[in-house]
Amino acid sequence: MLPIPYGRQHITEADIQAVTETLLSDFLTQGPKVAEFEHKFADYIGVQYAVAVANGTAALHLCALALGVAPGQRVITTPITFAASANCVLYCGGEVHFADIDPLTGLIDLQQVRQLLEAHPKGYFHGLIPVDFAGLAVDLEQARALADEFGLWIIEDACHAPGGFFTDSQGREQRCGNGQFADLAIFSFHPVKHIATGEGGMITTNRADLYDKLLMLRTHGITKDPAKMHRNHGGWYMEMQTLGYNYRMPDMLTALGISQLERADTGLARRRQLAARYDEAFAGISQVRPLAGAPGHAYHLYVIQVADRKGLYDFLREKQVFAQVHYIPVHTMPYYQELGWQAGAFPLAEAYYAHCLSIPLFPSLTDEQQQYVIGCIREFIGE
Ligand SMILES: *Cc1c(COP(=O)(O)O)cnc(C)c1O
Repeated sequence: MLPIPYGRQHITEADIQAVTETLLSDFLTQGPKVAEFEHKFADYIGVQYAVAVANGTAALHLCALALGVAPGQRVITTPITFAASANCVLYCGGEVHFADIDPLTGLIDLQQVRQLLEAHPKGYFHGLIPVDFAGLAVDLEQARALADEFGLWIIEDACHAPGGFFTDSQGREQRCGNGQFADLAIFSFHPVKHIATGEGGMITTNRADLYDKLLMLRTHGITKDPAKMHRNHGGWYMEMQTLGYNYRMPDMLTALGISQLERADTGLARRRQLAARYDEAFAGISQVRPLAGAPGHAYHLYVIQVADRKGLYDFLREKQVFAQVHYIPVHTMPYYQELGWQAGAFPLAEAYYAHCLSIPLFPSLTDEQQQYVIGCIREFIGE
C-alpha cells in the first residue's frame, strides 16, 4: 500500500503486448502506429488534425514556431504552470508576459489578461497561452473573444486535461483541445499524465495551414511530397524548405499511447470518482480548501490549500505519502528573475503557491490508499 506517490502511470498486459508487437515490426521510429494514434486521439478529442511529437515541450515549441513567434513578439501566459508553457516563447526569441490567476480555480484570470491588454497599444501582444490547470478547462469561448478583440492567437496547453471540457454559452460541452476556439492545443504523455508513454506529446488543431507547417517542422523542415516541391530529381528527392527539428514520436511509444487511449475514459471516470471522495472528506474540514471543481474537470491533479503547507508536506512524507507542489510560479524562477521578473509581481499566484499541495490522485490509487491519505491529513489538521 505504501509508499503512495501523487501521480503514477498504469501499465497493463495489453500495453506491454502492444509495445512488443511494434518491436518486431518494420518500424522503430515514425511508422503506421503514429498515424493510427493521431487519428484515434483526434477522434477522442473531437478535432480535425492531430500531430504526435516527441514530448509536450516539443509540442509547445513547434506551436510557437508555426504561429511565427520571433524576436519582438510578446505572449501572455499564467505563472501557475510548468515552465515549458512559458519557455516555448523564449525558444523562438519572443518575450513572455504573465497575468495573475483566479485564486478559486488556479487558472489564468481573463479579467487580468484584459487589463494587461488594455494597458498597452493594440498589436503590442501577439498570443495567449492559457493552461487547463489541474484538469479544469479554461473558458476558451471567452478567451477567444478577448483574443479576437486584441488580435492574438491562442495555444491551449491542455496537458492536464485530455477528456476535460467546459460548457459554452450555448450549453454545449467543448472538449479541451478540440480546436473550436484555440488555434492550437497541446498534450503531454509524460508518466504522470492521463495517457502515459514515457515521453510523447500531441498537437491538435482544426487549421489545415498550421497542420501542414507542423508536419514539416516535426521532421527537419523536410518534405517528401512531390506536390509541395520546388524541383524533383527523382525517387530519392526530398526538400528541406524550412528550419525544422527532429521531434518525432516513435512507433513503440505511439503503440503504447493507442493502448492507453482505449482506457482513457475509464481512467478519467476513476479520477473523477476519487476527486468526489476527496471533496466529500474535506467538506467537513474547514482548514483544508480544495480548488474549485466543475463537471468537466479532468482531475490531473487534486489540489488542496492549507495554512501550514510545508508542515503538511513533511508530515505526509513521514507517513510515506509523497504529495507535490504545482507550481512554483514561473516568474519567480531564478532564470525568469534574470530576465527581470520580480517576486511580488503576481500576488495571487504567489499566495496560492504558499499554500497549495497536490495530494495523490491517479486511476490505480485504491480506496484503501485514499482513505489512508485522508486519515493522515485529518491527523495533521487535528480534526
Ligand atoms: C507536462 C507538462 C508540459 C510538458 O510536457 P513534457 O511532455 O514533460 O515535455 C507542459 N505543460 C504542462 C502544463 C505540463 O503539465
